[in-house]
Amino acid sequence: MNIYILGAAGWIPGANETSCIMVENKGQLFILDAGTGLSNIRKYAHILDKYDTVHLLLSHYHLDHMIGLSYIDPFIRDKRFRVYGPGLMAYPETTDYYLSAFLRQEFFSRSIDRFSHDVKVLDFPEETFFIGDTKISVTRQKHSAPSYRITLDDRLIYATDLSFSADAWEGVSADVLFHECWEYKEPEQDSYRHTSLRQLKEQLPLSSFGWIYLIHHNPDWGEDDFSKIKMLLAGTNISLAEDEMEISI
Ligand SMILES: [Zn+2]
Ligand SMILES: [Zn+2]
Repeated sequence: MNIYILGAAGWIPGANETSCIMVENKGQLFILDAGTGLSNIRKYAHILDKYDTVHLLLSHYHLDHMIGLSYIDPFIRDKRFRVYGPGLMAYPETTDYYLSAFLRQEFFSRSIDRFSHDVKVLDFPEETFFIGDTKISVTRQKHSAPSYRITLDDRLIYATDLSFSADAWEGVSADVLFHECWEYKEPEQDSYRHTSLRQLKEQLPLSSFGWIYLIHHNPDWGEDDFSKIKMLLAGTNISLAEDEMEISI
């Protein structure tokens, strides 16, 4: 499994673009979320060229996870494009309904069904399903709008935009966990929308994961904050994700 960080930030792009991770696994190409990080896909033509289908999985529909849809169409014109989102699993309407509304003609000149010759926009069919030989698991999280943890082959977990709950991690393990981190300063306010570094360090079963990368960084963070966070992470199996980082597991 080859993993490429295209967007490691949350909400507003700055030092990094917003939420987007690309994954090659068992002959399929996956993209997790479509934040501004999807603009970085232009640097990965050598990867895209190997695949005739792109599978995009959306954790939820907040704009920092969706805006990149308006950047991707030039790169997938000759490919099959499959998009999956929570839809009726958690919302009153389907993913197709939301994306069609988001990309309607007043906002973007090309509707999603014309991004390529073969586009399908689907809801997650079950909490566990297969794309090719890759097992996909989706688990609902607590956030200001329903968001989903996405697990590929029980090896990679992508968990962003969630209010942290230690119970959600009981018995869960993976080679690599990408987890949001929104706060690190003390005293921290536990948020119903997001997760703090203290919660991760004190309540996540760190040894259940080979490596943990912090994603969805707070846009207020600057160089000084990143240095302080790196010091707080010393001696742990947690590190800060950054755009264009490549990880093989
Ligand atoms: Zn977000
Ligand atoms: Zn969100």
